[in-house]
Amino acid sequence: MTDITLTPGQRSLRDEVRTFAREEVPRQLLLDMDADKIRYPRGYVQKLAGQRLLGLRFPQEWGGRGLDWSYEVLALEEIGVLGASLACLYSLPSIVGEAIQVFGTQEQKGKYLKPITDGKMTVAEALTEPRGGSDFFGATATAMREGDVYVLNGQKRFIVGAEGADLFLVYARTNPDAASRQAISALLVERGEGVDVQHVYGLMGTRGGGTGRVYFRNVRVPVENLIGQEHGAFEVFNQMMIPERMTSAAGALGLARVALEISARYADRRKAFGQKIREFEGVSFKVADSLTRLDAARALVHATARVIDAGGNTRYARRMVSESKKFATETAWAVVNDAMQIMGGIGYTNVYPIERLLRDARLMTIWTGTNEIMNLVIQHEYYKEILAAPSPARDVESDAPNADVEGEKVYE
Ligand SMILES: Cc1cc2nc3c(=O)[nH]c(=O)nc-3n(C[C@H](O)[C@H](O)[C@H](O)COP(=O)(O)OP(=O)(O)OC[C@H]3O[C@@H](n4cnc5c(N)ncnc54)[C@H](O)[C@@H]3O)c2cc1C
Repeated sequence: MTDITLTPGQRSLRDEVRTFAREEVPRQLLLDMDADKIRYPRGYVQKLAGQRLLGLRFPQEWGGRGLDWSYEVLALEEIGVLGASLACLYSLPSIVGEAIQVFGTQEQKGKYLKPITDGKMTVAEALTEPRGGSDFFGATATAMREGDVYVLNGQKRFIVGAEGADLFLVYARTNPDAASRQAISALLVERGEGVDVQHVYGLMGTRGGGTGRVYFRNVRVPVENLIGQEHGAFEVFNQMMIPERMTSAAGALGLARVALEISARYADRRKAFGQKIREFEGVSFKVADSLTRLDAARALVHATARVIDAGGNTRYARRMVSESKKFATETAWAVVNDAMQIMGGIGYTNVYPIERLLRDARLMTIWTGTNEIMNLVIQHEYYKEILAAPSPARDVESDAPNADVEGEKVYE
């Protein structure tokens, strides 16, 4: 976003986070995470907390800054330059915190939300199961009520932050006999007896963020740790998908932005056939196309932020959030891929970070709901919108010369 469109407050936050990403995150941390030498960078999360950068949207009382989405997307883009793992660990307090902020009791906010934003408690979000992530409401983990506890059993996989998390937001079936949307509850589960995290994945990218498989075996979760209504996870899920997908979308912008810039600078220096390669249309038009895509994606993400800020979790907001996630992550993939092409063979080596960014970008169209699932949401919400009532706009269908030949309008 150009500075001219930002308020002084937004510019100041953007600059603050930009400075953090530039100065507070050592290069060695990124290298060690990518080499899987670091499994979970707790110090990074604590450093963010120390600068009050976690959970920006939450009220100051709970450790946030009381800002809105138009601010948070700016912060996320700046953190996105660090790659997908660090961006995700930055986002998790915003995602898990949303559930606590919107549905939690005062006690839950005091016990969990404040320590999360203070960096004293690290979190992970445990939705996906080995049997599938897209068909989320088919979850099979169970949490059966026994007096004042739920007894949690099951497995979750691909959980970012699992290796270092003190607290898991877990979705489990509390009413096995009911239809899926009335069967599942959201629970806050502290790491402890019966919670077993295993490091089993050799990831293509997005390494070092503690992505693990989590087993819950007879974990006794106090009923006070229920988030929202019992069997009411559908509502919690719908709310959490806003930060879940907005963080992916806005983070992708930062990652793509730096890949493009590295490749454009390279093209300005690298020569072939006696001239700078940026002077070849095959190169410079890639830069132009990438920039156009990136600006369009950023505009969509920022428009979506305004829609959420203005109206909350509406049907229209859910459509925009899914469009943003899909478009920004597909843009990131295309932009990083073209950045590699611009750089030729050296882009494929680890002399430049493009190959790492490419490995990270590939995940973004898959996680936080695949882009096919985004398409399901987008068309579903659109049909609900247009079929709910006749359009108040001009009836353009009737402007066709033969619009009144009803016999030709055959639908079955
Ligand atoms: C590195 C990594 C980190 C992750 N982090 C987390 C995390 O922190 N917490 C968490 O809970 N999950 C996490 N995930 C899980 C991620 O969100 C899921 O992998 C994703 O939602 C897809 O689920 P799946 O892998 O089970 O694929 P499936 O659901 O089996 O889907 C396989 C394919 O089928 C397609 N498909 C499925 N259903 C439909 C449909 N109805 N219409 C069209 N196409 C469809 C999908 O789009 C996909 O292409 C992570 C995954 C990875 C790899």
